[in-house]
Amino acid sequence: MRRMSEPELISESKEKCFVCGAEEMEVRNYVHDAGLAGKLLISVWQCGGCGYRSVDVKPWEGKLPVTLEFKVEDPDDLNVLVYRSALGTLSIPELGLEITPGSSSHGNITTVEGILEEVLEIFPEEQVEAIREAKEGKVKFTLLIRDPSGSSFIKSDRVKAISQA
Ligand SMILES: [Zn+2]
Repeated sequence: MRRMSEPELISESKEKCFVCGAEEMEVRNYVHDAGLAGKLLISVWQCGGCGYRSVDVKPWEGKLPVTLEFKVEDPDDLNVLVYRSALGTLSIPELGLEITPGSSSHGNITTVEGILEEVLEIFPEEQVEAIREAKEGKVKFTLLIRDPSGSSFIKSDRVKAISQA
């Protein structure tokens, strides 16, 4: 019989707390080998400011942390499907955009265009013009998703996946 191992820490970050707003939310992800039940991904959210704590457990799909890179080069690329898991951080360096997992704890499936629409609503005025141009297919940009759970995807065969063991 296999012995159960201790949960292994795979990622650790500090986010803005969505309850009190302090930059005190510690987010830790562990993989736990639960024997016959398989491997589990345990996400622990704990705020040093207000004391909010939440633990989420789901099946671990055995995937390694990954960074996905997709170059958006023509208007068709805007229709590509994108899934950002609850742990994925999405960024577009050319536009200075970053969406961290802190603001919502659920995954999100949309298109590249849908992402730009979403960020249009939350980003400051100075960035809006550049995002609009990107949405109209006028500028090329790079979509990056950094995901410690490895479950995010971008549905295109031009995606580069960089594994981080
Ligand atoms: Zn808090």
